[in-house]
Amino acid sequence: MILNGDITRYYIVMISMNDPILFQDNLPDRVDAVIVGAGVIGISTAWFLAKAGISVLVCEKGRVAAEQSSRNWGWVRQQGRDAAELPIMMESNRIWAEIGEQLGVDVGYERKGIMYLARTDAELASHERWLDIARQHQLDTRLVSAEEANKRVSAAPGYWKGALFTPSDGRAEPFTAVPAMARKLHEEGVLIRENCAVRTLDIEAGKVTGVITEHGRVRSGTVLCAGGAWTSTFLGNLGVNLPQLTVRATVARTAPAPEFYSGAAAGGHVAFRRRRDGGYTIAPGGFTEHFPCADTFRYMFKFLPALVQTASVLRLNFGGDLVQRLIPRRTWTADEISIFEKHRVLNPEPSQRGIQRMRAKLVEHVPALANVPFAETWAGMIDVTPDVVPVMDTIEQVPGLYLATGFSGHGFGIGPGAGKIMAGMLRGQSPGHALQRFRFSRFSDGSSMQPGPGL
Ligand SMILES: Cc1cc2nc3c(=O)[nH]c(=O)nc-3n(C[C@H](O)[C@H](O)[C@H](O)COP(=O)(O)OP(=O)(O)OC[C@H]3O[C@@H](n4cnc5c(N)ncnc54)[C@H](O)[C@@H]3O)c2cc1C
Repeated sequence: MILNGDITRYYIVMISMNDPILFQDNLPDRVDAVIVGAGVIGISTAWFLAKAGISVLVCEKGRVAAEQSSRNWGWVRQQGRDAAELPIMMESNRIWAEIGEQLGVDVGYERKGIMYLARTDAELASHERWLDIARQHQLDTRLVSAEEANKRVSAAPGYWKGALFTPSDGRAEPFTAVPAMARKLHEEGVLIRENCAVRTLDIEAGKVTGVITEHGRVRSGTVLCAGGAWTSTFLGNLGVNLPQLTVRATVARTAPAPEFYSGAAAGGHVAFRRRRDGGYTIAPGGFTEHFPCADTFRYMFKFLPALVQTASVLRLNFGGDLVQRLIPRRTWTADEISIFEKHRVLNPEPSQRGIQRMRAKLVEHVPALANVPFAETWAGMIDVTPDVVPVMDTIEQVPGLYLATGFSGHGFGIGPGAGKIMAGMLRGQSPGHALQRFRFSRFSDGSSMQPGPGL
């Protein structure tokens, strides 16, 4: 195993292509399982496979966790989940709590609670409806009074009407968590290679026999595609259709600020979360942008219910070279330089409008942060399925190929739980959870798309 660069680096800022390559293992001839993509899903799956004694190679076209898995808000959220995701998420929340002890790394996980604040009675009533799902799973979610809500986030008395609150919800530090896990797994023998795009699969007699990377071929009868926003493109080249689109989400972190609230909360179109470094991660709640591209039209029909549901928060953006980037070629051959090598890290510009909106909403709703400067802003492209819940399944068309993608704005929290499921699936074990809602065939078997509670 070859490790290059400073492995003690502690990320608090965005991971980019300017960061040195940390993981540079030689490619083996053969391995039990190959994972395409080193986000939270790929790395968590590698962890559970390695625990079971399975040899694993993780190929990452850019840097470990440099796309969604480091750029997210860091909410480890059970509250407000799709009913089918909730049991998996509850297990994932437990796993997050154990990662520190089991892997001996600090992922910044703390149970500090998540709150959905309400400015109006109608908003509160809408939050209240989710309590039924919480009760079915004995989750500690409850409605809190106006007095308690205002006290918890240091708002003026009477400002918020109340909130939905889950004390057992957590937060973790995205820029550090997955890279720290990867580093530990690597020390324990999991092979990881950055700057290693998987161009396509090696398929013989209709079955997966390995992957073809930009650095050569690796034999394996088991491949998991956990490619985040690139998955539909990757599968398209194999003739497999996955309806998947992306939206841009803009985020900021503040300079260190006095702690007025230690968990995460959203309300009045702003979301905030206390960070380990003493600042807050801020996002303009209800502000996501889609860059229309060929796939928008290709999959429009499937996405209609989600479009209707998110109409008030989704903005169409026709500018920027993102449009070019996100119109992928559908087919290429294994000996061509692929789109994955041309775009090592998807690093969209943050939206200036989004940043201004955050500032304005903080002044209006979170006075404690109104004058705290932003230390860094960034954006990430979230991959979304038509029903806003992931796919965790085998691909029948291509035996040996497995898929875990489409986590749609809430895959960081559920990542370790999903990794456990996928590792079991790759080993032919029972998943321990109902996965019907996450089957791949729902996009082609005539099922109607019923979007989960949202991004
Ligand atoms: C701004 C923002 C805020 C969010 N907030 C939250 C939150 O608070 N809580 C939460 O739970 N979730 C949140 N999410 C969603 C969460 O981050 C994602 O759902 C999750 O990280 C997805 O993980 P992943 O491993 O599937 O994808 P990714 O993290 O995107 O990883 C996929 C990896 O695959 C690699 N790859 C793709 N194709 C290839 C190839 N052919 N060869 C090699 N490598 C390849 C990519 O380079 C990438 O590194 C947020 C997302 C964003 C962008």
